[in-house]
Amino acid sequence: MKSDDLVAVDCNLCGNPAVNQKDLIQAPLQRKIRSHFNDLKQTSFKICPNCGLVFLSPRPPEERFLAYYRSVNHKPKQHEEIIRNEEANSWYHHEVMAFLEQHLNLATGARICDVGCGYGSLLHLLKERYQGGTVGVELSTEAAAFASAHYKLDIQQGRLDDVINSESFDLLVSVAVVEHLIDPLKSLRQMAELVKPGGHLLIIVPDLESLNLSPHKGERLQTVFKIVHLYYFTYKTLAAMLVRVGLTPIKNRKFSRIKKQGELWLLARKGGDAQCSADLTPNWRELQRYVRRKTLWPRVVALLERIGLTIMSDKMAQQIHRYLVGKK
Ligand SMILES: [Zn+2]
Repeated sequence: MKSDDLVAVDCNLCGNPAVNQKDLIQAPLQRKIRSHFNDLKQTSFKICPNCGLVFLSPRPPEERFLAYYRSVNHKPKQHEEIIRNEEANSWYHHEVMAFLEQHLNLATGARICDVGCGYGSLLHLLKERYQGGTVGVELSTEAAAFASAHYKLDIQQGRLDDVINSESFDLLVSVAVVEHLIDPLKSLRQMAELVKPGGHLLIIVPDLESLNLSPHKGERLQTVFKIVHLYYFTYKTLAAMLVRVGLTPIKNRKFSRIKKQGELWLLARKGGDAQCSADLTPNWRELQRYVRRKTLWPRVVALLERIGLTIMSDKMAQQIHRYLVGKK
């Protein structure tokens, strides 16, 4: 696997050059993507001491990630399997709906766009509820085809760059997408352009400040730090990025979809004075300490495994963990 195409990355939020970034944590390689990214063994997640943004650097160019996503889709799922998965996620989509209903006063007929709509079940719920024009944007040909055939949704298959147009939406949602993007600032600006003045965006990403790796289950670093997640956000960094593209953060929620890492939900309005009432001053050292403390256990396990020590009783593991991290 060639590695000469890895590029050191400047901070996407504040432009701070690559040479100024600090190490946060070594990037673990999941087994299933090792064949695509074997040259990433030595890369790491960096933290920007200027704004606190966390991102993978150096990293391969975008084409290699796109090739990876395309290859993932080579194993097409059965129709029944997709429906089963979507039904298993339905509770989560209802949570999103409830959050929107609680904080927005969307009228019947509201126009809604889901960027990275996947197989379309959230967009389908939104369409049923608000009865307006809905559009989904989806990279995966398989997911896009399913969403348009099964739910009869209007899907634009491709990347945001390919499908962006002057249409205006009352609401744009994007769930578990922004952390995968090569240039999230640019993409969020494009998303903001799709929204009418006074309209809203709901962005959902993994929350770097809600790490909860349990020592009992032997959870590994790679279950939360995935190299396909090119960015990790906190409330401050995501809100600051939204403000930079002219949005005003109005509501946020920490949500626990899976135990080991929570999500950050951020609802923003287009227009207004694009100010955030919360303090967005970053404290990168505090964040670095937090991440290192929360990941200490899986890092110790990885080290022990590297030197051949793999057998450890749960009780011993818990004791070491208590010693290292303290109770709680
Ligand atoms: Zn920065």
